Parts: sequence; C-alpha cells; structure tokens
Amino acid sequence: MDTMMSLSSQDTIELFDQFVIPNYTRYPVSLVEGSGSWVTDAEGRRFLDLFPGWGCNILGYSPPGVVEAIQGQAARLIHVPNTWYIEQQGLFAEFLCSRSFGKAFFCNSGAEANEAAIKLARLHGSARGRYRTITFERGFHGRTLGALTATAQPKYHEGLGPLMAGFRYSPIDDLDAVRELVDNETCAVMIEPVQGEGGVRIPDPAFLQGLRDICDDNDLLLIFDEVQTGMGRTGTWFGYQQTGVTPDVITMAKGVAGGVACGALIAQEEITGDLRPGMHASTFGGNSLAMAAGLATGAIIEQQNLLQHVVENADHVRQRLTTLQSQLPIIREVRVCGMMIGIDLTIPSAPAVGLCMERGVLINATQETVVRLLPALNVSREDLDEGLDTVAEVLQQMASQRQE
Ligand code: PMP
Repeated sequence: MDTMMSLSSQDTIELFDQFVIPNYTRYPVSLVEGSGSWVTDAEGRRFLDLFPGWGCNILGYSPPGVVEAIQGQAARLIHVPNTWYIEQQGLFAEFLCSRSFGKAFFCNSGAEANEAAIKLARLHGSARGRYRTITFERGFHGRTLGALTATAQPKYHEGLGPLMAGFRYSPIDDLDAVRELVDNETCAVMIEPVQGEGGVRIPDPAFLQGLRDICDDNDLLLIFDEVQTGMGRTGTWFGYQQTGVTPDVITMAKGVAGGVACGALIAQEEITGDLRPGMHASTFGGNSLAMAAGLATGAIIEQQNLLQHVVENADHVRQRLTTLQSQLPIIREVRVCGMMIGIDLTIPSAPAVGLCMERGVLINATQETVVRLLPALNVSREDLDEGLDTVAEVLQQMASQRQE
C-alpha cells in the first residue's frame, strides 16, 4: 500500500467521519508534509507553524539529521525488547543523564512518564505507608487515569470518576497551602517548572525552592514534569536548570526525540532501586528507533548551539511582546520562558487561532484567555518575526473589534 499518497483534505475528512473516533476537535485541514517551521496541507497551502506538533516537533518538521538517523536505524533494527541490552538506549540515557543527573527509564509518552514517576514515589514511600502525591491547580500531567487524577483541572475529570485515590491539589505560589496538605501519608510533590497547558505560568523561584525544602524536611520526592519544558525548550536542557532547584525526578516526552514518540523519567541514583525488576515496564519504551531519533535530536541541539539561539530569540520575543502590550490594553500579561510563550489577554483568546490561520500562521489558545506559542528551537529570526507580525495584527484586530 502506498502510504505516501496524498488524498485531498476532504477525502481524508470523509475517512475520519467513517472510521476514526471523533475524540478530537480538528481543523478541517489535512497536513501532508513539512520542513522547518513550515507545513503544507493536501491542497498545497503552506502554514508558518509557531506551535509545531504541540511542542513535539522541537526542531520543526522532519529535521534532516533526525530523518537520516531514523532511516539508518530502521534499516538496521527497529525494535528489540527490553530483555536485551540496546546500544542506542544506553547512549541516549548517557546523553540525557549527563546533562541532568541520575539514571533513566524510557517509555513512549508524557502520561506514561508521569505514571512511572507516581509509581516510583509510591514504591519509595510504601514501607512507611506513604502513597499520596500533591499536585497543582491548572497543572497538566496527561490523560491516563493516574496522570489525569494528578491533573488538578475539574474539566478533565468530568464523567470519569471515581478517580484514583492518593492525590491532593494546591494552588501554585502558596507554600502554606502545600504545608497544610502534607501529612504522614504524603510521598511526593509533582509540578511543572512552567505550567504549559495551564497558560505558560511560571512559578516563583522562591516557591520552587520552598517546595524543595518541604520535600527535604518531610522526606518526600520532588518531581518536575518536564514533558513540555525538557530538551532545551526553555533555553537550558531542562526547565529545572532555570530555577536553581534540583528535583529528585524529572519526566519528559514531547520533543525529546524530535517528533518520534518517546518519553523518559530520570531519577536521582539513590532512589532508582525502587523501580525494581517486575515492578514497572514499557514494551516499546527505549526502542532503537526512538533512541536513534533522540540521539540525533540532542546532537543537533548541541551542534547548532540551539540553547543559545533559544535564549536570544526569547529575549527578542519578550521585547516585541512587551512593546505590543504597551500599545494594546487587551494584553494583560506576557510570559516568556525560552520558546514557551504565553500572551494572556483580557478577552477570550480562542478567536486568535482562526484569525491567524486565515493568515497562514498556526498558534494555540489555552485556559480561555491565553495565546500560546511553542516555536521550534531552531526557528529562524525571520520566521519568528513574520509569525509575530501576524499575531500582533490579529490581536490589534481583536482589540479594535472589541472597541466597536
Ligand atoms: N505533562 C505535560 C506538562 C504536558 O504538557 C503533557 C501533554 N500536553 C503531558 C504531560 C502528557 O503528555 P502525553 O500527551 O505525551 O501523554
């Protein structure tokens, strides 16, 4: 079967109507190929994507070095089970841990990485009867039942009860609230170093340090969900490196293998023994293909000095958006952490998505009022400026319509 054939968008939509469970709201467009920050639909229309792959396409669409690595690895070995040693898994673990700490466990997605973290924390606390994890309002940790329960947003819980026992929710930036929730059944605190889906909310560094202290004082594990902030997104390899706080566990997924499904958990060496043989596994986790893609992704970030590029682009974006904010009162707040960009409006942000798309630029809206961008780490200044011009034009239009 020729999987490279290109159907029209309408043909693909008809297939979906007939055969695909409609659990997503989709734009009526089928995307068929891409390069860098640009993606093309079945009709040949090109879009500049400032939100490529929901942050998974960290080097843009089909980055050549990752494509070559996948092609080469696929021809040699796609998958072997974890009952064998896998060279690429060892090498990618070395790559990630030597830029963070500890040892790695591999899986295939963010939710799965967080499940592993929750299990590790429970195993760590089990001898003392501890099982409860504290998470944070507006956080997002995934859709599996454990990760979903960890996600303290009622809208995602509707109709799914009873949820898992063993979670408590706190507001961010409120250490007293956290202290009140800690008891002798608590085993961990889990937080995103920057809340992504929650609207690019950046916790106060003093709050994160306070969490570290609470965890140290009560022998709890501090888990950072780096599914969105990992692999260079914030301008350092991991988001925690921006905060001055070192957690016990980090989880990652999204861009870690340049768009190939891959998740990972990294834990400090002294607690890794809790994930003992037989207690946790993932059939596809750490497969040769994903690991080769991850190694290529990491090598490109390093060789092309992309962490520095992210920092420079982030400064530029902050400057441009702060200027725009001074001209447009509908912008309540601008939040930038590397290539995680949130523009919080005083009005609903959803219309901005369609208006930008009409002008050929792809963005995201979240949490009712936030315009969110997750550009590729290697986005060129030219593309970034072109995209920001469009976002500015659209926000100006939304502001003027509001005044009419
Ligand atoms: N954690 C965070 C911080 C996320 O942003 C996401 C996905 N948006 C997840 C976990 C879940 O990842 P996945 O969809 O790969 O399970």
